[in-house]
Amino acid sequence: MRILIQKFGGTSVSTHERRNRVVNKIIKAKNKGFSPVVVVSAMGRKGQPYATDTLLSLVSRDFRNSSPLSIDLLMSCGEIISTVVVADELSKLKMDVVPLTGGQAGIITDDNYNDAAVLRVEKGKLTSILESGKIPIVAGFQGVSENGYVTTLGRGGSDVTAALLGTALNAESVEIYTDVDGIMTADPRIVSDASLIEKISYNEVFQMADQGAKVIHPRAVKIAMNGNVPLVIKNTLNDGKGTVISNSAAGASGKVVNGITSMDDRVQITVKYSENKDSENYYTLLDELANNLISIDLINVFPYEEVFTIGNEDMDNFKIVMKNLGLNYNAIKECTKIALIGSGMRGVPGVIAKILKVLSRENIKVLQTADSHTTIWCLVERSKASKAINALHREFLLGEK
Ligand code: ADP
Ligand code: ASP
Ligand code: MG
Repeated sequence: MRILIQKFGGTSVSTHERRNRVVNKIIKAKNKGFSPVVVVSAMGRKGQPYATDTLLSLVSRDFRNSSPLSIDLLMSCGEIISTVVVADELSKLKMDVVPLTGGQAGIITDDNYNDAAVLRVEKGKLTSILESGKIPIVAGFQGVSENGYVTTLGRGGSDVTAALLGTALNAESVEIYTDVDGIMTADPRIVSDASLIEKISYNEVFQMADQGAKVIHPRAVKIAMNGNVPLVIKNTLNDGKGTVISNSAAGASGKVVNGITSMDDRVQITVKYSENKDSENYYTLLDELANNLISIDLINVFPYEEVFTIGNEDMDNFKIVMKNLGLNYNAIKECTKIALIGSGMRGVPGVIAKILKVLSRENIKVLQTADSHTTIWCLVERSKASKAINALHREFLLGEK
């Protein structure tokens, strides 16, 4: 059996017209001799009736925080509705289909509601559906705990379902259909002349996804990489080739930087020794933040100060921790962390210098930088982020093929 996973995102299944395209892609795969396993997301985006955010808005914030088990049950409904609607459209065309929840498809998770980790995939039911020539339509983003409760896999988690099934079923490839042509050199909503990346390595895409490129979930990239299953990102609305992600694509573009991504809502924190020298807590601060599950990044420790960033969502918690420790600090809110990613930058001199030159030419203050073998980060004020990303995109010639 030549198994192909075809995952369709929220916008791809949002209208009857779009679902026609979805149905055509599935039938085409079947006619080519594949046994497709379809994974679907909830229909549409925020504001549309069955989108995940719309379902979440049906209950109070307090309930959301106090009953994650209930919230997973609520959020799972969006994908379940999608499976049945897509199944209906396929059966009108005489296709034999079986819509399934994540649990029915054998996705067994721990009970970490809202962000459950997958323990295993019990593939018996899916395999027998495929062997009978039928097409399983699986609700993405969800599983079931060993106690039988519905769980979800973290926002954007339908990609994770697709990659998991691809690996478990030894699929020829995992196709992720969305509303853009593939992985672009930057978010096309920020950079209008962002260009399509035709081939890219798992590692680079993982970095892009992890650093804010919403087009694919980073965990899906890791799972596909570990299972050595090629991932292809395509546009539901056309027949373009999309982006092929595999191991053989490292350095395929020959460029120093392959893509630019960004994360908003960062807060830069500076804790000065001179303002806290009477407190022994100065040296245990980073441990205390870890104990309170506040994740920090871009950490620079100097003899006279510690500088790092946290997410805006952790700010209330952070204030409490700092108050309890009796430490003074300075916070710059509304920052954006920009990441320039490319495996070709390893060992190439002058890349950071070039970035700083471009940003200073554009009068954009760089609040902090950091680098690894494949990524350079710069922190800027959010109001300047779009200008900075566009300038960097031009400087590294990413709009040009
Ligand atoms: P889906 O509902 O299909 O899963 P998502 O909204 O999760 O779609 O992801 C697709 C979106 O990701 C695109 O509409 C695009 O704006 C955004 N995006 C961010 N960075 C990139 C990038 N580098 N390449 C392509 N799309 C990107
Ligand atoms: N519907 C879920 C979400 O909005 C999962 C997904 O779209 O992948 O996060
Ligand atoms: Mg998505």
